[in-house]
Amino acid sequence: MRLTTKLIPGALFPVIVALGAFAWGVHRGPMPAMSLTVTATPPAAAQKTRLEARLKSSYRFDENGWIFVHLEGTPEEIGFQHGYLLAAEIEDAFKAVQLEDVHDTHHPWSFFRTAAHDMLWPKIDPEYQAELKGIVAGLQAKGAKLDLDDVVALNAFEELPDYYVPWYDARHKTAGAPHLTSPGNCSAFVATGSYTKNHDIVIAHNNWTNYANGERWRIMFDIVPQHGFRILMDGFPGVITSDDDFGENAYGIMVTETTISQFNGWNPDGVPEFERSRKALQYATSITDYVKIMNEGNNGGYANDWLLGDRRTGEIARFEQGLKHTRLWTTKDGYFVGSNFPSDSEVTKDETTFNVHDMANSANARHTRWDELMKQYKGKIDIQLAEQFEADHFDAYAKKEGADQRTLCGHVDTSRHGVPIWDWGPYYPGGAVQGKVTDSEMAARMSLIARLGHPCGESFYAKPFLAAHPEYDWQKSILRDMPGHPWTTFTAGETRKQ
Ligand SMILES: [Zn+2]
Repeated sequence: MRLTTKLIPGALFPVIVALGAFAWGVHRGPMPAMSLTVTATPPAAAQKTRLEARLKSSYRFDENGWIFVHLEGTPEEIGFQHGYLLAAEIEDAFKAVQLEDVHDTHHPWSFFRTAAHDMLWPKIDPEYQAELKGIVAGLQAKGAKLDLDDVVALNAFEELPDYYVPWYDARHKTAGAPHLTSPGNCSAFVATGSYTKNHDIVIAHNNWTNYANGERWRIMFDIVPQHGFRILMDGFPGVITSDDDFGENAYGIMVTETTISQFNGWNPDGVPEFERSRKALQYATSITDYVKIMNEGNNGGYANDWLLGDRRTGEIARFEQGLKHTRLWTTKDGYFVGSNFPSDSEVTKDETTFNVHDMANSANARHTRWDELMKQYKGKIDIQLAEQFEADHFDAYAKKEGADQRTLCGHVDTSRHGVPIWDWGPYYPGGAVQGKVTDSEMAARMSLIARLGHPCGESFYAKPFLAAHPEYDWQKSILRDMPGHPWTTFTAGETRKQ
């Protein structure tokens, strides 16, 4: 019955969508013809005018550790603004990714550039090729030295090292190839109907990654594209998709995911995951639509359990996307949780080496904890509880309070066990690095709440950590403090004074 109060008569849909698209600036007229003024102005002034025209109404501001960027226009313009406004952060993030990729895989950076150039680039839609070229143009306008192959390889930092490289090494029988396994990133849930306080959707996610990358995962992207829908998502400098992932589009689709642990599979002829996930968030008007876009050209990279919500219908979903098998579960009354475990028996058996019976591993222990919380708080789940869940420090396997490698808010640097299923050694500097929550009502206003650093608010300090754990000295040039920050609301289109 809650749905009937929200249903809009079908006949009104096109009108509302059109009005919404107009209000969000999706349909924009052509840019003023700059050539008219260029002929009458000196070169330096003309250059300035051209720069201003490309930057349009884009802007950035900093808030509680996050960098909010508003990007708007054609694919080339969005890319240029991204590259220009975040040039320093992209160069810095690139150095971290480059160091990790080379260290972890034993392949030189040229290997990743070649993969980006020969394998990934030709499969990318012209729209996103234009955006990626725009990022490079924006970077270069700021004096950065990165080129297109660097930027494409950076965009694929979640799929090349842990999906493509193991496939490549096996195929080429690479001597001394390291053991590489797909990462386990994140603790997330989506709930609806009788599980939530308002009977609408609540969705939340915290990003598990190494702290070096996590400290840089601080961009809040507000994108108004020429085609498709406005997007609000968190993200990583220089990358066109959220990648951790958490986002909402102006039509009403809410998206997050957690990766499938110990997944094996790669299709070199497929479309990069970073492109498909961006396209799905930008264009999807329903859960089935989202799934369809993600499946077009599936390359197996960054294989995830997608947790989805459609605020117009109240429906939620788990979409488990392997390469050989995919499966979709939907409901208008229930919940789906994610903590890096596969759910479909065929995906588990054919595409992973994951042990669903090892209750001591991080993925299964967090799964248990999620189910406990959903049961305990059924009918009460709201934004505040979602924040609390993402900051939860109860180890459901050890049955005790205290942040470790098995708690929803993970602090693996405190654990002598590490997380063996992801090749995270003892005291690995990784875990939950930031969190985001939203609900149907906030998403309708293109709003979300995010917290940078551990979602519990505790700080991590690099210097004492490295002094105690010199085995991670190789990260010295990229590992930084992650100070605690407060939960902070962000809304598409907002501006704040510095
Ligand atoms: Zn914590």
